[in-house]
Amino acid sequence: MNQVKYSELTFQAIVEATPNAIVLVNKEGKIAYANHQTEILFGYDRIELIGRMVEILIPERYHKNHPQFRTMFFSSPETRTMGSGRELYAIRKDRTEFPVEVGLNPLVTVDVTMVLVSIIDISARKKAEERFRLVVESAPNAMILTNKEGKITLINNQTEKLFGYHRNELIGNKLELIIPTRFRGNHPHLRESFFSSPSVRSMGAGRELFALRKDGTEFPVEIGLNPIDTDEGTVVLASVIDITERKRHEAIVTLELKNKELEQFNYIASHDLQEPLRTVSNYIQILEEDFSEELSQEAKNHIRTIQRATSRMSTLIRYLLDFSRLGRDRKLVSIDCNEIVENVIADLNSLIQTTGTKIQVGNLPVINAYETELHQLFQNLINNAIKFRKKDTAPQITIGCENYNEHFEFYITDNGIGISEKHFDRIFQIFQRLNADREFEGYGIGLANCKKIAEMHGGKIWIESELGKGSTFKFSISNFQV
Ligand code: ADP
Repeated sequence: MNQVKYSELTFQAIVEATPNAIVLVNKEGKIAYANHQTEILFGYDRIELIGRMVEILIPERYHKNHPQFRTMFFSSPETRTMGSGRELYAIRKDRTEFPVEVGLNPLVTVDVTMVLVSIIDISARKKAEERFRLVVESAPNAMILTNKEGKITLINNQTEKLFGYHRNELIGNKLELIIPTRFRGNHPHLRESFFSSPSVRSMGAGRELFALRKDGTEFPVEIGLNPIDTDEGTVVLASVIDITERKRHEAIVTLELKNKELEQFNYIASHDLQEPLRTVSNYIQILEEDFSEELSQEAKNHIRTIQRATSRMSTLIRYLLDFSRLGRDRKLVSIDCNEIVENVIADLNSLIQTTGTKIQVGNLPVINAYETELHQLFQNLINNAIKFRKKDTAPQITIGCENYNEHFEFYITDNGIGISEKHFDRIFQIFQRLNADREFEGYGIGLANCKKIAEMHGGKIWIESELGKGSTFKFSISNFQV
């Protein structure tokens, strides 16, 4: 056997032994050789292929462009995969098509250049990918697939809903797009450490995680990470759950716990404080009724002072009890805030008339809230806005609301005496009053009630003000769905 024949045989033996379909094609596009795997994959006998144009293996819609690609390949032949980025299909003798991956290897001999084409049927892989896509798509959580560089490669419908992006806006983009700015800097580092020892785990142990919507709003999330091995290396499938509702529920449970403590205090207050107070009151009454004639005028004056003090103290205890009872037996109902404010204004009518108060009310929303408490909240704030007016200035009050989807933000602005910044926190504590020595009456309970009511609604209350320049009280209410 001469040398050439031996190498030909070796070549043939190798080509026959590979598990892929291998086709040898010449410059003109004619098939010079096809291995047994090609016969199995395409359903032809080898004899039917050899000498035919390679287009016989390609669906008709690609025939037009194929000769041009072939010419390009032969003008600078190098080993590479075909059709990078495009999906490639082959066609069998029975006219059925299947997806393929095609490798091109130039074979250069002294007199001819040919290309050795290896064809892999990727139907099974495609099916697996499709199945994976369907599983991800139908998952109840937002699912986001990212690669090592942090690029998003796949998302499901829930992700679009949760983040407000269309999938075209996310795929191909960096994951940082949906992370609040303040966490972005650290993220590549966290990603690197995840990929260096990938495992199924939840993200950010012990930290609170937040995600960023397209509209710029943030929401708390829980994130599970699953590394997946693919042809393109390890990728990570993140499943994201919006935990806004859970957080809200937790806040309410905490509040209920606090309420329990207060109820205990309430019990103590009602028994242990009211009881001795009642005794003092009773003995004062006895002194007044039975010993009136024996008492000097000075003693009578002292008794009256004691009386005033005890009566004030019993009022304080009553308020304290009301405060601790606030929010019991509550039920969320749909409330038109315009109506609530109208009612409050009607209740305060005589005060409004005598003080010449002007109130401007913007368009307020219909919300799910606790009715009695919401009424009380508006009543306290509007009443204060009138009460803490400047001498000789008729109160002007503006009431409005901004809708932030997750919550509503109400504001009540007055042109009254204002508050200096150092008291901003203090005024919301129970029995705290700033103007006790002045002409303003009160017990310092109103704003503490307001704070509790706002918190009951998953919100908070705060103030923006400057001494002498009026105040704006703002409070938020969660957009509860019932
Ligand atoms: P009260 O009205 O019984 O004093 P609040 O709890 O309603 O108690 O208010 C606490 C304190 O906050 C008040 O004593 C007052 O000093 C201050 N304050 C409340 N509302 C206003 C307002 N609209 N303008 C200026 N100061 C206010």
